[in-house]
Amino acid sequence: MRYFVVGLVANLLAVASTLSAQPNEIVLGAPYAPEGSFSDICAQQISGENSNLPLSPASDDWFRIYEAGPGVYSIVEPYQFQETISHLIVGETRALLFDTGMGFLPLRAVVERLTNLPVTVLNSHTHFDHTGANAEFDSILAIDSDYTRANMAGFDNSAVAGDIAPDAFCEGPPVGMDVAKFTVKAWQATGYVKDGDVIDLGGRSLQVLHVPGHTPDATALLDADNGLLFTGDTYYDAELWLFVPETNLDDYERSLARLAELEKGANYLLGAHRSARVGVGHLAKVKQAVSKLRSGNYRGEPGSDEPIVFVIDGIELVTAQTVLDGSLYDDAKGGSGLTEY
Ligand SMILES: [Zn+2]
Repeated sequence: MRYFVVGLVANLLAVASTLSAQPNEIVLGAPYAPEGSFSDICAQQISGENSNLPLSPASDDWFRIYEAGPGVYSIVEPYQFQETISHLIVGETRALLFDTGMGFLPLRAVVERLTNLPVTVLNSHTHFDHTGANAEFDSILAIDSDYTRANMAGFDNSAVAGDIAPDAFCEGPPVGMDVAKFTVKAWQATGYVKDGDVIDLGGRSLQVLHVPGHTPDATALLDADNGLLFTGDTYYDAELWLFVPETNLDDYERSLARLAELEKGANYLLGAHRSARVGVGHLAKVKQAVSKLRSGNYRGEPGSDEPIVFVIDGIELVTAQTVLDGSLYDDAKGGSGLTEY
């Protein structure tokens, strides 16, 4: 009941704000929960690492926005099991939005609560849980690959069924989302980036690191001046998903080795799920765990035709026999990230 009242207040404020919105003024979104309270499990999700970061007043009932570094706003969607994160990185003249999340609710208005600067999108990779709101933006950079182009076609409702099922949400889908009609809309790149490119945001530069493995187009960003390494799904602080056909473990090991060197000069890792920001040292450990995984000396659970979960040195790796042996690998075919393994 208490949360329902909070939602009601947010709703009233949203109405008031739309009447008098000025640039930079916070416009609250619609309440997330249709009625009642958030469940305990969802309350737990927003504690943990993120609770140590300042919560931006631009947050609303669906998007929790954490200030994860100077000019870095990590837009978390904590009430769906993916706990997806999109990072907005703001310079003096431009901003880069690294991923656009699930796309369940409009994201552009949220980003415009955080910056008035022109915003360019780049995806950490083009699985649907990171490209959901790409279609709302008119400046999108991408890796020039067949895989990326295939995913630009978007994903229909059935391809994302597991992510919009009732049990995918803490407390049902957000108000304003039509689950039956939900799709990830098609989008177009307006420019391409490649490994080593530097994106100049004015007083802040981001180095593009093409780090294939999780997908052929996996991309990381290094903000060396601020000690920030944005790792996408190559590393985040939850079980690491490595079970879809477009995952290549040879590439993944190489990319981890490269990023593990770079993390030595960084202060924080910013991944694309769960925690907006964690300390460094994890990449070296994951690299070691993946080479142990591939040694064949470890047993996973459960079987060969489902994802197999390995826990090695405390790191949970969710993979599949077809990824371990590379038998389904195809770097040109797009992927839903969920439906085949
Ligand atoms: Zn992901």
